[in-house]
Amino acid sequence: MFKTKKEFKKEFENACLVVVGKDFEDCSTEEKYFALAKLISSQAGELHEQKIAHKKIYYFSMEFLIGKLLENYLMNLGLTKTVSEGLKDMGESLEDYFDIEKDPGLGNGGLGRLAACFMDSLASLGYEAQGVGIRYRFGLFKQRIEDGRQVEDPDNWLEKDYPWEVKHLEAAVPVKFGGRVEKSYDGNEMHYQWIPEETILAVPYDIPMVGYDGKQVNTLRIWSAKPMEEGFDMDAFNRGDYAHANKHRADVQAITDILYPNDQSLSGRILRLKQEYMFTAAGIMDIVNNFKKQYGNHWEIFSEKVAIHTNDTHPAVCAPELMRVLMDQEGLGWDESWKIASASVSYTNHTILPEALEKWPIDMFRNLLPRLYDIIEEIDRRYRDSFHKNVDGWQEQLKNTAILWDGQVHMANLSVIVSHHVNGVADLHTEILKNIVLKDFYTLVPEKFNNKTNGISHRRFFAQANPSYRKLLEETIGKGWIHHPEELENLKKYEENVSFLEKVEASKKENKIRLANYIKKMTGIEVNPNSIFDIQVKRFHAYKRQLLNVLKIMDLYNRLLADPNFHIHPVTFIFAGKAAQGYTFAKDVIRLICAIADVINHDDRVNRMIKVVFIPNFSVSNAQIIYPAAEISEQISTAGMEASGTGNMKFMMNGAITLGTLDGANVEITQLVGSDNIKIFGLKAHEIETMRHQGSYLAWTLYHENQRIKKVLDQLMDDTYSHLSGGFDLIYDSLLRDNDSFFVLKDFESYMNAFEELVGLYEDKKTWWKMSVHNTACSGYFSSDRTIEEYVQEIWKL
Ligand code: PLP
Repeated sequence: MFKTKKEFKKEFENACLVVVGKDFEDCSTEEKYFALAKLISSQAGELHEQKIAHKKIYYFSMEFLIGKLLENYLMNLGLTKTVSEGLKDMGESLEDYFDIEKDPGLGNGGLGRLAACFMDSLASLGYEAQGVGIRYRFGLFKQRIEDGRQVEDPDNWLEKDYPWEVKHLEAAVPVKFGGRVEKSYDGNEMHYQWIPEETILAVPYDIPMVGYDGKQVNTLRIWSAKPMEEGFDMDAFNRGDYAHANKHRADVQAITDILYPNDQSLSGRILRLKQEYMFTAAGIMDIVNNFKKQYGNHWEIFSEKVAIHTNDTHPAVCAPELMRVLMDQEGLGWDESWKIASASVSYTNHTILPEALEKWPIDMFRNLLPRLYDIIEEIDRRYRDSFHKNVDGWQEQLKNTAILWDGQVHMANLSVIVSHHVNGVADLHTEILKNIVLKDFYTLVPEKFNNKTNGISHRRFFAQANPSYRKLLEETIGKGWIHHPEELENLKKYEENVSFLEKVEASKKENKIRLANYIKKMTGIEVNPNSIFDIQVKRFHAYKRQLLNVLKIMDLYNRLLADPNFHIHPVTFIFAGKAAQGYTFAKDVIRLICAIADVINHDDRVNRMIKVVFIPNFSVSNAQIIYPAAEISEQISTAGMEASGTGNMKFMMNGAITLGTLDGANVEITQLVGSDNIKIFGLKAHEIETMRHQGSYLAWTLYHENQRIKKVLDQLMDDTYSHLSGGFDLIYDSLLRDNDSFFVLKDFESYMNAFEELVGLYEDKKTWWKMSVHNTACSGYFSSDRTIEEYVQEIWKL
């Protein structure tokens, strides 16, 4: 492992020769980046320990949004200075290499990024862990804006190889699909043999997960589908039917070709079920193989050595699959296998939206995974048998909790039944699970339920993303907070210190200028770094209510034009985020943002006061530029609908003030910072629940009673904003004809008031920057280090 600049330069030159096959001088910048990434990756590999020394957590997640690695790993390994100065001597710039790196989009948003933050914290805290996921050939689409509309381009992240991964063909495992189960009785017990219709090979690729200080390096193991044999139909080839000759290979590889968007109904997507089973079965086989290598057949200690966590229900078949392997391959009985599986597996629920709770038609499931289905059917049968039929309401309880019901396999119910712990991701969310969504389970097995409020990697999203603030903190409270984020509390002592507040303001300005430059480069729009940066970045979804924010801007514009006495501090409204390809409403909201941006930014009467920007292709890498530049963090979901949010935590840590509803982790942010340091508005979750129940809300009434609402809604239908890409009937209809399911209009007035009050505070510098520092000082709680410690102590028992 190199330590000095001199050693680095020598090893780097050598890496160019070995990796690229060229002298350093002859390599392109891209090739040099590739050699450097390989060098750092091999340094990390030297620190890696394959064996299970104590107890290992296997974190199964369909998505891992890991972001770029080079900058993060240099920081974690303490090599940034050595490498940067070494490269400078060689006439190179490290920043150029950072730019070249691809940001693999192996996830949709919050859930996938959470998994990546957890990998960071697990390694940084020195726990043995492996992430288990899918190596999608194409990540989430790249978003481009053309004539004010979202356009999707494929994310071909593997086009030129990915230097951080290492393929392990020797660890590939077969995965079966379809066919039938043969039963035989040997006079003693039943034996089951799955005769599949198709068997494919799952091939793992390992990416190092480097902890801070480099003490622990774990692995993210992502699986790729490949044919068992390089099947090639020679007859078809000789006939000139090239497409058919390759068909089998293409069909198999298709399993891991694409990442499904999270905003579409998945019923009937057999490929998705294949994905889910493929990575789960491969991961379980891998765990069993590793365990056996070390501990032989000592299955009685399996759950002392292995913890398996399922991030949402996508890997819900972990437990039945583990039982299948233990019974059919290792010869264990039902009771023993059940005991091992249910003592090893735990589950995080991420959503309360009923339509997002995963279900599969029984026929489809049984045809694709016949042996798994047998096992699940038996789990369900035993679960039904366990009901005490003399308890009032047992039928209703069973109906709500059974795995097999109404011709469907209910994956959340399966997950709860097979797991030893079930958790929600913020206090409010866990309460809603206990009292509404999984109420019957909570009555039956309250001890399984617990809360684990999400967290974020404060190292990536604060220490790395906000270098100016980091430097200021190091000068003020030292470096301890990088290991112990709760030490950010020490900042509270400086909340009244005017000279410190001025430095915080200057740091924010630096970040705003960095973002303004990025905006100029990506959109051509010039924004004023002295204006307030009011930012909403996240996936586009009706419940996240970007539309409420847009209506606010439309209303401000109307009032600025109509009333010469109306004044606010200049504000730049910044949006980013992707809408799923098939989600027309969400895409229309993006279109509306681009349309109002075009009108407002070109209107010289107002564009010194307000501007609107849509930054294309929100991803982990530009998120790291966006969060640190924010002053207002828009977290305005319909109360009760956002499980937790993690963007809210990233903004808060970077000193933005939250303008939000009492939803998800906003509730805990409020408790931590106090109501003077956050701006909360709108209906509460229970009020919305009541109004929905009573059907007492009528959007038309608001339209007729509130002139400002009427005006902005009418503008959706006239030609105010339709010049760029057409009208906005769908949005208008969702608000009025469909009676505003997300309570946008109902919360409008309270949102406008809250916004104006908050912006009013900006004029008072001391108050504003004190609030900002207070938010950062209270944010240590939201480090994923804290979340991981809670999982470790209370669920995984590592
Ligand atoms: N996408 C990326 C790249 C993120 O960093 C985050 C935040 O953690 C999200 C999506 C989720 O954002 P939110 O929690 O605001 O929905």
